[in-house]
Amino acid sequence: MIIPHSSPLIDEKDIQAVSGVLASGHIAQGEKVKEFEKEVAEFVGSSYGVAVSSGTSALHLALLSLGIKKGDEVIIPSYVCSSLYMSIVQSRAIPRIVDINPDFNLSPVSVKNALNSRTKAVIAPHMFGTPAELDELIHLDIPVIEDCAQSLGAQYRNKKVGNFGRITICSFYATKMITTGEGGMVLTNDSDIFQNILERREYDKKTLKISRFNYKMTDFQAALGLSQLKKLDYFIERRRMIAETYKKQFSPFNIQLPELPSYKKSVFYRYIIMTEKKDIVQKRAYEKGIICERPVSTPIHQELGLKQFPGSDHAFDNALSIPLYPKLTGKEIDYLTDKICAILREI
Ligand SMILES: *Cc1c(COP(=O)(O)O)cnc(C)c1O
Repeated sequence: MIIPHSSPLIDEKDIQAVSGVLASGHIAQGEKVKEFEKEVAEFVGSSYGVAVSSGTSALHLALLSLGIKKGDEVIIPSYVCSSLYMSIVQSRAIPRIVDINPDFNLSPVSVKNALNSRTKAVIAPHMFGTPAELDELIHLDIPVIEDCAQSLGAQYRNKKVGNFGRITICSFYATKMITTGEGGMVLTNDSDIFQNILERREYDKKTLKISRFNYKMTDFQAALGLSQLKKLDYFIERRRMIAETYKKQFSPFNIQLPELPSYKKSVFYRYIIMTEKKDIVQKRAYEKGIICERPVSTPIHQELGLKQFPGSDHAFDNALSIPLYPKLTGKEIDYLTDKICAILREI
């Protein structure tokens, strides 16, 4: 049996939805994109949504819409994919890298220490589906961009994430909570920001007065997104159920499992175990056909040669992501827990 680290769940209805658009002849950005924007905004609870080509382009437009320019600083955590760093560099601003808390999310204390007169925004990813410390971040009084690429449907104090910052971005890459293959969205309640992003997404029949991009989504991607969105509540329920099973099975062993305060509800985009022996676990799981991964390939501060990021270093050295996604069958889950428990017993 081979259990990949992640795999999207595409069913017959998804395929029909895409085929329908392809057969219609109207395949580029059109009515389906508009419908998808409306539905995602509704799901999260935002006034406006703008669908784009990726989470990274969503971040880029979000930064530009805040008026971020050369010399401005934008705060991001070290323990995250390089998309955040790149979107800031593309906006000609300076990424300011800060450390994380033990739950892998941005440390509000580190953010506070990094603030200065050039700070124009903070990007807060809800890592692995678990909400960041939103209250403390919002109170710092700089615009917060919520990065919900991994966390659609997660809740913070009984409210869905994506409702707390000035702008929210999503990603619909193949392995995210729902997929359009590649894709993203910007969400906001601010009509000026909405208009600004809508303007910049495309160039055709538009003025030369602002910098514009071709960041559009196609209608056949939006059709897939709409079809996937109908299953999102089920996807989340299934992810939580599998996480519950893993917790039951793995708790007897000497490893650290995800722990959540009662005011946060995770969607378990990833299931992360922490152990000094993660390399051995990964290797032995691989031998059994179970693909576990480092959830972040290299922390940004290490890439840049920066020091004194104990939280991020600790996560990098100990975190291992165990496959968890709605497509996993009962049989696969049994096989996985059986083998992983056997490995944990040996080490
Ligand atoms: C995937 C991801 C992104 C980037 O999204 P793409 O669609 O791959 O460009 C940004 N932030 C986080 C937290 C992500 O997981």
